[in-house]
Amino acid sequence: VSAAPERDPALAGGRLTVNLDALADNWRLLRDRSSPAECAAAVKANGYGLGIGPVVQSLWDAGCKTFFVALADEGLQVRSLLPQADIYVLNGLFTGAADDLAQADLRPVLGSVDEVYEWAAFCKKRDETLAAAVHMDTGMNRLGLSAKETDQLTRRPDLLRPFTPTLLMSHLACADDPSHPLNERQLAAFNALKTDFPDMPASLANSAGILTRSDWYFDMVRPGIALYGGEAVAGSPNPMAPVATLESRIIQVRNVAVGETVGYGATQTLQRDSRIALLSCGYADGYHRLASSNDPNPGAVAWLDGHIVPLVGRVSMDLIAVDVTDLPDGLATRGAWVELFGANIAVDDVAKQAGTIGYELLTGLGSRLSRRYITSAEAS
Ligand SMILES: *Cc1c(COP(=O)(O)O)cnc(C)c1O
Repeated sequence: VSAAPERDPALAGGRLTVNLDALADNWRLLRDRSSPAECAAAVKANGYGLGIGPVVQSLWDAGCKTFFVALADEGLQVRSLLPQADIYVLNGLFTGAADDLAQADLRPVLGSVDEVYEWAAFCKKRDETLAAAVHMDTGMNRLGLSAKETDQLTRRPDLLRPFTPTLLMSHLACADDPSHPLNERQLAAFNALKTDFPDMPASLANSAGILTRSDWYFDMVRPGIALYGGEAVAGSPNPMAPVATLESRIIQVRNVAVGETVGYGATQTLQRDSRIALLSCGYADGYHRLASSNDPNPGAVAWLDGHIVPLVGRVSMDLIAVDVTDLPDGLATRGAWVELFGANIAVDDVAKQAGTIGYELLTGLGSRLSRRYITSAEAS
């Protein structure tokens, strides 16, 4: 399955390699951890940037049956590949979109009473009790029915009767911070909802929720970032296998004298005579400019054949400079591939340097990269 326009790998400046076995292993690890709850998968935003087609096919082959996307449009892509899957649309029912959802057997995650009314009316008109999730807010104040709206539904359960509510859902705001007091409040609110709607299967936990607390599992868990090897809980060891590797080729190596600078803004002055390798990849490929190296703040690092190579100066649109002075002869050569993140440089470490999270780095990977999908055997 192809995820993006094919690029000739021989002509690519940057390449993304996705280990589909590692993805499936990560799903199985989370499934085993949260069993007997069902383990679904969040595959929104093009499978967290890694390519929705190969991602959902691998997860389905591993045994995943339920998928969460943000948009109906993404749901259509999943439906075209997986005719049997349950597909939930997290951003809910857009006005007038009910027919499109129904035709592709997509389930809206109804996030307001307006959406509940619209789906119920649509189902009545069609005389079909179509499936949908109902999202109740438990304190995040993003999507989901408010406590007041939820009361309305408790008093009028007939409002839910025209359709089949297959999932009672809420979302945790602070699962990545186990000591945050909002966690306890959300759990208490969700348990109360479960009492009010005892017949609906319930789902609360994202990746961080799965990795931190078993009393969040309920009937279904919804991991996203952990499937893709990203760090769900900051400050604790990441148990997931790396899935995505971003590499860029060296296009030239040059000597630069002590006291000189490299790149736009002359932001970093070399403290010694240096060898600098130029990589054919930049912020246009989704590598963040905020990961640049500036005096006195060193930036992110990359990796070449067992050696850390620090970034030098600013990341530009199509180029990144790295310091290869300390490498043995023959490693940093024109045409060699340098890992920007992957098994040796955690995507979350690069993200931290850029003041963001691995999620944003992965979902922002550029369309100019060549992409390849491999198995674990091919990775070693
Ligand atoms: C994105 C999302 C998830 C998955 O979150 P991760 O932190 O990536 O595991 C689960 N539930 C909802 C409602 C989401 O929006």
